[in-house]
Amino acid sequence: MKKGIHPEYGPARVICACGETFETGSTKKELRVEICSKCHPFFTGKQRVVDSRGRADKFNKKYNL
Ligand SMILES: [Zn+2]
Repeated sequence: MKKGIHPEYGPARVICACGETFETGSTKKELRVEICSKCHPFFTGKQRVVDSRGRADKFNKKYNL
C-alpha cells in the first residue's frame, strides 16, 4: 500500500445532531450524524406514545370525561 493514499483507520468521535457523542472506528477523526441509538425512531417511538396520551387527555378534558 502506498502511503498517503489510504487514510488511517482509528478511533473516531461520532457527534449526533441530538448532542449524543460516542466512539467508533473510522478513517475520519470526527463524524457528524443526524441520528443515533438515542434518538433513533425505534427509541423515540416511546415519545409518540406519550404524545398520543397527551392528546387523549385534552380530548377527555374537552368532553369532561
Ligand atoms: Zn442522536
